[in-house]
Amino acid sequence: MATYRIAVLPGDGIGQEVTPEAVRVLNVVGKGAGVGFEFEEALVGGAALDATGVPLAPGALELCRASHAILFGAVGGPTWDDVPHEKRPERGLLALRKELDLYANLRPAKCFSMLVDASPLKRSVVEGTDLMVIRELTGGLYFGEPRGVERFADGGARAVNTMAYTSREIERIARTGFEVARKRRKRLASVDKANVLVVSQLWREVVTRVGKDYPDVTLEHVLVDNCAMALVHKPTQFDTIVTENTFGDILSDEAAILAGSMGMLPSASLGGAVGLYEPVHGTAPDIAGKGIANPIAAILSAAMLLRYALGLEKDAERVERAVLRVLEEGHRTADIAHVGTKTVGTREMADLIVRALEAQY
Ligand code: NAD
Repeated sequence: MATYRIAVLPGDGIGQEVTPEAVRVLNVVGKGAGVGFEFEEALVGGAALDATGVPLAPGALELCRASHAILFGAVGGPTWDDVPHEKRPERGLLALRKELDLYANLRPAKCFSMLVDASPLKRSVVEGTDLMVIRELTGGLYFGEPRGVERFADGGARAVNTMAYTSREIERIARTGFEVARKRRKRLASVDKANVLVVSQLWREVVTRVGKDYPDVTLEHVLVDNCAMALVHKPTQFDTIVTENTFGDILSDEAAILAGSMGMLPSASLGGAVGLYEPVHGTAPDIAGKGIANPIAAILSAAMLLRYALGLEKDAERVERAVLRVLEEGHRTADIAHVGTKTVGTREMADLIVRALEAQY
């Protein structure tokens, strides 16, 4: 029997409430699919800071490196708002991204038909939306040198950030884009600003070259301003989108609106030997500890883990179907509830999904 080692880092706030539910779901898959899971927990974020004095507990990085995948919750909260920069809870997550070379961030945005009314956009626009935004995560404007502020004697100043990409950095994220598109509807939109930026011209050149290795995937180049418009005008025209760090940061949040609630959105960060799977949402201090957080984003992150880390596509689909079934039956957590639906808490929602999953084995 194949056995997989999963590092579990719940973090803070509702991270501690939703992550155990994703672990339960993986345990059901383990039993049903005849694979073994060994879960080992480590502290990250404010929880790690309080217990160990640093935002990534000693040994946590080694645990992650020795695992097949990382199941992550969320970090941060008002308790730690005033701690020095280098100790802030999010430093724990940034350290993991950097040390594990997680350069590709995958964020699906799917509009479930029964949640269409939870989106602020019209039904006719969002219905049928099912896209994946792949954001380059370790290069571009957020990391480029030189950077800094120059102060002048006359009181003025000049600030600089640098958008820089090497062909190697572009090539590896482009390959991720094509590989992911290949597992979906085989359409890839590469988003850039090649009419203005030389970085984007290189981006386009490299993506086009890499595309020759994927003749089964249809590639189109889209300017970032056009893409931003099209996402709220005709989101169904997209399948997989690949783009650089800053554009991806903005477009993936825009795409998130299409899905209705933060509580529904999973993500994966891939790159090096081990990937990190986490809900898009944060620690939700306003509802933490109340048992009402939506566990679906965390559970769908576990489905991504099955698909991308372990290659268990059928089991990933089973988890996604279980979520769909429970929503179809009218069950909702408070964040996605509306008239005529049954409101349930975190544990109850996960119980329902577990039962719908068990029924498929
Ligand atoms: P948030 O995602 O925590 O919450 C935004 C809103 O969405 C809140 O009203 C919250 O109640 C709701 N929400 C989020 N997830 C939900 C869920 N699963 N079920 C029901 N409702 C949900 O964002 P925020 O309030 O801007 O940030 C709170 C803290 O989380 C901050 O400290 C921030 O730095 C941190 N944060 C961490 C991560 C991460 O760890 N990757 C990401 C974003 C924010």
